[in-house]
Amino acid sequence: MPPFPYLTIAILAAALPCASVLAAEAHVHGQAHLAIAVDGGSLTLMLESPTDSLVGFEHAPRNAKERAAVAKMKQVLEQAGELFKPSPAANCKPAGVKLESPLLEAGHGAAGKDDHGHAGHADLDAEFMFQCAQPGRLRDLEVLLFDRFPGMKTLNVEVAGPKGQKAVQLNPRQRKVSW
Ligand SMILES: [Zn+2]
Repeated sequence: MPPFPYLTIAILAAALPCASVLAAEAHVHGQAHLAIAVDGGSLTLMLESPTDSLVGFEHAPRNAKERAAVAKMKQVLEQAGELFKPSPAANCKPAGVKLESPLLEAGHGAAGKDDHGHAGHADLDAEFMFQCAQPGRLRDLEVLLFDRFPGMKTLNVEVAGPKGQKAVQLNPRQRKVSW
């Protein structure tokens, strides 16, 4: 299996929704990617999602309503403990969140457009860190992103854990990954 099988899927499916030959990156609306890294007591979750699935658009906010949507997204994502539930017995606590997206760059009017001013795509990259007091009991993760972001339909998950790597697909009905 190639190290990043989701890339192949994303490229194949990219022609279907929101097709734009000028898009800098191939992504599929409704589909996000989550990389889970377990390293001793450190649990790191790296999420990549089209912003369409989070706020419903992929350009820099143009009005008060869109600015409020972006602010709300940021607020929700910063509460990592409400979005992800690691095994309770592992006693994991949120230890930091990093967010990156063209939509979060204040005063940057070019988000979601290419050099020629055509509408394109924009992603959000987020890193959620947890520290776990009982790492030996860290065996699964429940993902609650689907409740907060109904535009997110599938989540391609890759786990790099103590027993090696695995890949699964989560959705609103199957929201728990174990390793
Ligand atoms: Zn897009």
